[in-house]
Amino acid sequence: MPKANPRIAICGFSIECNRFAPVATREHFAYFAGDEIAAEARLPAPRMLGEIPGFVADMDASRGWEPVGIAFAAAEPNGPTDHAFFRELLADIETRLTAALPVDAVYICEHGAGITTEDDDPDGELFATVRRVVGPDVPVVATLDLHANISDRMVSMIDAFIGYRTNPHMDMRERGIEAAQTIRELLAGTKTETAFVRLPIVPPTVTMLTAAGPYADMIDFGQTKVGPEIMNVSVMGGFAFSDTAKNGIAVVVTARRDRRNSKVAEAVAREIAQFGWDNRNRFYPQLTPLDDAIGKAVAASSDLALPALCFADVADNPGGGGRGNTMYLLKALYEANVKNALVGIIYDPLLAAEAHQYGLHYNFDARFNRDETTQFSEAWSAPARVVALSDGECVGRRGIYAGMSLGMGKCAALRIGGVTVVVVSKRRQCADPIFFEMLGLDIAKARIVVVKSRGHFRGGFDEFFKHEQIVEVDLPGLTSPMLKNFTWSRLPRPVIPLDEGVEWKADA
Ligand SMILES: [Zn+2]
Repeated sequence: MPKANPRIAICGFSIECNRFAPVATREHFAYFAGDEIAAEARLPAPRMLGEIPGFVADMDASRGWEPVGIAFAAAEPNGPTDHAFFRELLADIETRLTAALPVDAVYICEHGAGITTEDDDPDGELFATVRRVVGPDVPVVATLDLHANISDRMVSMIDAFIGYRTNPHMDMRERGIEAAQTIRELLAGTKTETAFVRLPIVPPTVTMLTAAGPYADMIDFGQTKVGPEIMNVSVMGGFAFSDTAKNGIAVVVTARRDRRNSKVAEAVAREIAQFGWDNRNRFYPQLTPLDDAIGKAVAASSDLALPALCFADVADNPGGGGRGNTMYLLKALYEANVKNALVGIIYDPLLAAEAHQYGLHYNFDARFNRDETTQFSEAWSAPARVVALSDGECVGRRGIYAGMSLGMGKCAALRIGGVTVVVVSKRRQCADPIFFEMLGLDIAKARIVVVKSRGHFRGGFDEFFKHEQIVEVDLPGLTSPMLKNFTWSRLPRPVIPLDEGVEWKADA
């Protein structure tokens, strides 16, 4: 019989790290410790994504439990995490978890694509630390973003592995609930075994949508295996820009272990990996060149009979560590004299502060990226008028940020020629219509909307743009899906889509 009120520890490290972006330090993280974790998760609009709130809500609805908050650090995608900060987090988790013993189970909320300035597998390090503290018999269950890069250590240290199944990510809360249900099953006595197979395919982000395409097919095939024997199938596409030896699509299977100890998890993982390998030629990106994109924008802005268009600046996606401030599209739209266009969201705290200082209706020369030193984030200036101002306090309305408190800092809408640009003070991807709406801008009336986002905008802007109205533009940037644009130092080679003659065998 499971205990009436199990004590369940909650901890995690949630960041996706782009090796080519500037270092993420302590101040980039939201840090929750002890009782703050469950308290924040129970708020109507918590400052965290949906996994822990889903987990806590489902546990709260069960027969009774005692949440034991340990430590949880979460940040927007960024560069490598400062190693000293990661060590501090790890030490905090170890100290608090040790002091909290005995616990009955542990829930780890992890992104899984972390790197630090010194360590390429901090997620594995954290999982191993938790296991060392609680010992071999306490169930440990983790949820991970499907952009996680998986190591043997991550898989072998936990009892159940639960990855997102949607991209754009719409199932964070469901996966948190699944973690709660899994922990209850493990507390009732179920034992598990896990298996993990990695393919030599590092899929460009734009080939990893889950509505349709090769990745969607692989996930769907995996889900057909879930049943009485197989508890969970997670197909993890990974995050190329972490540039680690762990990169490559990973199939992770958690099976209920029976007396025969049949290696069923391993067989299923290999079968799903083979399915992905058979589809390997579909993992190559197809983007629209800038000149073609501007041609479409000019046409759509002048001919109202044509559908409005959404341009995704997939190469400058803050959701993948991009700076959210490259000027290529904005500059080209301005120079082409495109009318009735919205561009968002540009990360430039200095410019936003300046607009607030001047006030509404002020005309000035907007200087973008005046202090930015990152490659691709070039300075640019143009005559602008302040048309709206906001303190940036808003709650996500739709998609990945729905229901989440989003402090964007000082924000401004600037009219530059026929383009209205939203400038913000907190770097985030433009995945939610609220970023335009909080400034009174009407997306439905725009002919062109530019979003700095790779794919999550699809979950927020779907009420305005159908798939056929979306144009993914090929531009320089820290998150370009054209992987040949980068100098890779640690990816396993040879690998698809970078190399010719890549081979893989399911039984090797
Ligand atoms: Zn992700």
